[in-house]
Amino acid sequence: MLTWGATHAQSYPWRAPGLPVWQGLIAEFLLLRTRADQAASVFESFQRHYPDARSLGDAPEDHLSELIASLGLRWRRPLFVQLARVIAERDGDIPTTVNELRELPGVGSYVAAATAALHAGNRAAIVDANIVRLLCRLTGREYDGETRRKRWLLDLADRLTPEFEFRAYGYATLDLSMTVCRPRQPSCPECPLVDLCITGQDRMPTLPP
Ligand code: SF4
Repeated sequence: MLTWGATHAQSYPWRAPGLPVWQGLIAEFLLLRTRADQAASVFESFQRHYPDARSLGDAPEDHLSELIASLGLRWRRPLFVQLARVIAERDGDIPTTVNELRELPGVGSYVAAATAALHAGNRAAIVDANIVRLLCRLTGREYDGETRRKRWLLDLADRLTPEFEFRAYGYATLDLSMTVCRPRQPSCPECPLVDLCITGQDRMPTLPP
């Protein structure tokens, strides 16, 4: 995964080196149920207008609503403001472990793990719907909307996450699950995991040469 990720990494503004943890946290919120290409321009507007928690806590209601409306997140405006004010009260200090992040308003398991591992330098196993699909195909298991909460899945994701290069691994799994192990027509011949993958091994003989 790390070798594949080194040459196939997608480029997004929230992956820039040295991104403040605050901006990484906002990016992960914007990416919930949103395609990355849709979220990119909204994220860049956040960076310009609300580069830190205090500025977002004081955001004009109309402007913030309009900014997030294109992602269908207008209903989340009070949550963004509440989160920003809590962080501002802590003088901008953002917790960096999964457990601490989960105590912030509105921060669930995905946002906490992605923020910790991708932006705050703390190892965490990232599990979203795409990664559930990837791991279930890899192991030949069925999956549905509840699989992401299953203990075996969470344990597997944790065991596969490396001790040190967890950021690169996290981005590689997110990218592979989006671009190669797609929901429909996964591209098994291009996949670096095909020799290990139960679904891939089943599909390969049926695919055109
Ligand atoms: S081999 Fe195919 S099914 Fe398996 S992980 Fe790769 S793309 Fe997905």
